[in-house]
Amino acid sequence: MQTKRINFKNYSSFKIGASHEVFIFEDDFSQIDNYFLLGACNNTLIGNNPPPLAILSKKYDYIKIENNALHIGGATPSGKIASFCKKHDIANFEFVSHLPGKLGGLVYMNAGLKEFEIFNHLLNITTPKGVKQKQDISYGYRKTDISEPILEASFDLRYGFDIEKVNMFKKMRSNQPSTPSAGSCFKNPQGDYAGRLIEAVGLKGLMRGDMCFSEQHANFLVNNGDGKFEDAMWLIKEAQKRVLDEFDITLECEIVILET
Ligand SMILES: Cc1cc2nc3c(=O)[nH]c(=O)nc-3n(C[C@H](O)[C@H](O)[C@H](O)COP(=O)(O)OP(=O)(O)OC[C@H]3O[C@@H](n4cnc5c(N)ncnc54)[C@H](O)[C@@H]3O)c2cc1C
Repeated sequence: MQTKRINFKNYSSFKIGASHEVFIFEDDFSQIDNYFLLGACNNTLIGNNPPPLAILSKKYDYIKIENNALHIGGATPSGKIASFCKKHDIANFEFVSHLPGKLGGLVYMNAGLKEFEIFNHLLNITTPKGVKQKQDISYGYRKTDISEPILEASFDLRYGFDIEKVNMFKKMRSNQPSTPSAGSCFKNPQGDYAGRLIEAVGLKGLMRGDMCFSEQHANFLVNNGDGKFEDAMWLIKEAQKRVLDEFDITLECEIVILET
């Protein structure tokens, strides 16, 4: 099997993690259960002792139009999807340019911005076990029950790229920090905002090493330089504890934490 050494301090959006040998899956998925499959590591915090890691090979980096549907490979970066849709005047993917990641990660997380989610126009996914239709997948706010590698996803093809939507998403993003992070750290609890709760318990801006919940957007856990996994975890656990004690609300992580 092919491997590649990846330095997660460069690769991950958090800019945290050591250098690890990562397995590359192409056609034989018989060993996949022994690995944690990553996309672009934009929603993942890599621990000091992560499980064995894997990625999909470049074979899964493609976009094609067939049978009136858009077929996108699991390893296709979101920026490439956005550019393709703009170039070919395709609707409903304008928000993707603001969601860093690869197609597999976007679908697994049901990534989105407000009511615009990747599942909205999904038809089916292809895994090593075959094609699975959208109606056979359980999904919700930033979650799915997908337990297989996503090799491809197919979407309803509609024409009419909307530049107004691009501008709207750009505006929505303007209050978010550009410091390394993995986007929202916690899911918003029903009827409330994780950022409001973090601020209310006095954690907005509190530095732990080089990590803090951003002054700009309290639900963004940011790395101000040489942030460490331990400091990120301290802040995550402290936020969960304080919010539970003060508001009786359990904050659920949106980010994926990889530590054995
Ligand atoms: C600045 C910033 C802003 C962000 N804003 C948003 C936002 O507004 N909305 C939002 O939803 N997200 C946001 N995110 C998070 C991120 O963009 C999404 O979660 C994205 O889907 C992550 O994709 P990835 O490829 O990097 O996934 P990774 O972090 O690599 O993996 C995430 C999960 O997906 C699984 N996975 C990855 N690839 C596959 C595959 N091929 N098959 C099966 N499972 C797979 C992994 O096992 C893991 O559980 C933001 C992130 C950043 C850094």
